[in-house]
Amino acid sequence: MSHSQGPSTRSVHLLSQVDPTTRAIVPPIVENVAYAFEDLETWRAVALHQAPGDIYSRNSNPTTRLFEQKVAALEMAQSATSFATGMAAISSTLLALLSPQKRAVTVRDAYGATFLHFTQILPRFGVTCEVCQTDDHQAIEAAIAAGCRVLYLESPTNPTLKVLDLARLIQAAHRVGAVTIVDNTFASPINQNPIVLGADLVIHSATKFLGGHGDVLGGVVCGRQDLVEEIFRYRELTGPSLDAHSAYLLLRSLKTLGLRIQRQNETALTLARFLEGHPKVARVYYPGLESHPGHQIARRQMSGFGGVLSFELKGGMQALVSFLPRLRYAYMAANLGQVETVVGPSALTSHVELSAEERAASGVPEGLIRYAVGIEDVEDLQADLEAALAQS
Ligand SMILES: *Cc1c(COP(=O)(O)O)cnc(C)c1O
Repeated sequence: MSHSQGPSTRSVHLLSQVDPTTRAIVPPIVENVAYAFEDLETWRAVALHQAPGDIYSRNSNPTTRLFEQKVAALEMAQSATSFATGMAAISSTLLALLSPQKRAVTVRDAYGATFLHFTQILPRFGVTCEVCQTDDHQAIEAAIAAGCRVLYLESPTNPTLKVLDLARLIQAAHRVGAVTIVDNTFASPINQNPIVLGADLVIHSATKFLGGHGDVLGGVVCGRQDLVEEIFRYRELTGPSLDAHSAYLLLRSLKTLGLRIQRQNETALTLARFLEGHPKVARVYYPGLESHPGHQIARRQMSGFGGVLSFELKGGMQALVSFLPRLRYAYMAANLGQVETVVGPSALTSHVELSAEERAASGVPEGLIRYAVGIEDVEDLQADLEAALAQS
């Protein structure tokens, strides 16, 4: 994966330009609903998409557009459209592209709310959904070969950090003319660019690493222009748009994306190795570990392994209950990708909407701990884990 500049330079400078009226380096927050025209001809031309411009901020807004353009550039995508949350992006993408009698193929370990779209929402509209075992590439390829309109993937997955061979599965989907969608939230555009691996669309919950500070919700879809336009038209009608202030917070966060991700990659790898060697830890899930079954694929398609790891204690659920509150630097909360370390049992975070049986079927152990590293000093985080484990 080669870029002309490094990830931090890209994060800071991509599409940055001095504001032409004020000379401000930082883009303005355009808190505004409607845009005034001087004549009806111009208004008509903008309305018919024959001239650039904004009419109404549910449809487009200059601050929001800059965020979209910046994510598209980071993902090497032709185009992007943004949403109020990651789930709005995912739901809108699926509902815009699917219709009755069409088939969709996905994997069991998709984000909990996404999984429920495939099992509960889409079937209500006559869409057939094939949910495959996440680590069985042959089963996924067989489901694709039976014909589908959409292949929807996530890698690494939440919370067991399974790795899918994206190029291989995308190729299989393109052989049957399917649209390929990858939720790239866990990797971030710094570690993985699914468009380069052939994906048609890439989705982010911008709430996580893109936002990075736990203070803003957002979602974005980028990729092939014609598909993004279809999704944008659906968003215009249904209205889950990102607002200008959130877009501004996200733009500010994107400048430190390279810096944050590099730090979180390094910290997560160090802590994963530490935990793997600890006698009270039963198992560690992190694609950067040589012991991880998807490590070789991850090395091929990722340039860093991300800021999230999970692990199980030998004492299981019982040990977890006393271990988690002992951590000084990890908030017990349902988020990931922010500058503070956040920790939680998967049963209460990514998979809270699922029943215990569904979690078991998805291979999510009840005692699994998801640990999303922040930007604290790794020595402090390791000492914190060590102290809490010593008492467990
Ligand atoms: C959090 C998350 C989502 C949902 O995003 P929201 O912004 O919370 O709606 C989707 N996919 C993944 C992988 C996530 O981690």
